[in-house]
Amino acid sequence: MSNPYAMLAVPGVQRLKPYQPGKPVSELERELGISNIVKLASNENPLGPSERAMAAVRAELSESTRYPDASGFELKAALAARHGVDPGCITLGNGSNDVLVMLAEAFLHESREAVYSQYAFAVYAIAVQTVGATARIAPARPADADAQPLGHDLGAMRELVTERTRLVFIANPNNPTGTWLSAGELRAFVADVPADTLVVVDQAYAEYLREPDYADCIDWLDEFPNLVVTRTFSKAYGLAALRVGYAVSAPGIADILNRVRQPFNVNSLALVAAQAALEDSDYLARSVAMNNSELRRLEEASDAMGLSYVPSVGNFVLVDMGEDAQPVFQALLHEGVIVRPVANYGLPEHLRISVGTPDENSRLLAALAKVRGDRASP
Ligand SMILES: *Cc1c(COP(=O)(O)O)cnc(C)c1O
Repeated sequence: MSNPYAMLAVPGVQRLKPYQPGKPVSELERELGISNIVKLASNENPLGPSERAMAAVRAELSESTRYPDASGFELKAALAARHGVDPGCITLGNGSNDVLVMLAEAFLHESREAVYSQYAFAVYAIAVQTVGATARIAPARPADADAQPLGHDLGAMRELVTERTRLVFIANPNNPTGTWLSAGELRAFVADVPADTLVVVDQAYAEYLREPDYADCIDWLDEFPNLVVTRTFSKAYGLAALRVGYAVSAPGIADILNRVRQPFNVNSLALVAAQAALEDSDYLARSVAMNNSELRRLEEASDAMGLSYVPSVGNFVLVDMGEDAQPVFQALLHEGVIVRPVANYGLPEHLRISVGTPDENSRLLAALAKVRGDRASP
């Protein structure tokens, strides 16, 4: 039945579909009455949070009657020191998702356009449509490309930039594909885009990358004031539940974002946890080392099973099931393993699998082998 309120919503919202999150463990427990579930569906850090971050949260809990510091002074100071920028360049968000939405609210409306790639992170479409702006979606690189299949095609994206384009969203690396752009090609793109178009480089997975040709981008801000870099504490820093992310940009852009930012968008537990996590370099190093070796293991196991995948630099891998992925997803649920279908991205035969702990990945690989065996000889 159609929703009678849909016609009352603004046009961009009428056309929106809700974001589809990874299936929560508790939901699968309720549905199937099983326990000992492995969730590899939301690119979370499988190590659990940093002990130092949790200690900071516990210490801050007793201050819960107070509003948080709306300016996020201490976290911004720590981030500014880390990145070698002025604190006035930083905008804190309730996750980096929040910053992406603020960018759309501040710089887009009905007569303006945003450019992003096919298969790009789903939040760009939501942010752009909500404010009634026009999304120009560039075709991705072909599935059979030698390098970065299904990744962003910067040439195709550049062709869509017009005088009405205020934002270009680039996920580097991208989710759900795990593809990335080298410093040289990204820099050439940013240099070529008109100064009144902001280029948002979403680096949610930056901490995992060890590729020598991967650009930090924050050190380009002096040269390219229309650049906005977003980062998050949800992935390698292991704080997805607490919702903290940030943008680094020219102070003028940060000033604009702070005008639309909800005053207390980052809560006090998140503020102290993020600061502690930033200082816990040991936790970060362990997270990255485990991810990168286990990612190789998942890719090699996929090779061994004859499954193709998009080579990834993130904490997940997009695997081609070579058939409708939905029944495979469902069968894996019955084995107690939650992965992520990506039909909503236009990839109905792929599953996105987050990299877990060695034990979790063993569970996944055993379940995948069983499910594929069952499907081949029912
Ligand atoms: C996970 C993710 C984010 C943001 O997550 P937050 O939890 O809102 O910080 C942003 N961009 C990409 C590409 C992601 O995969």
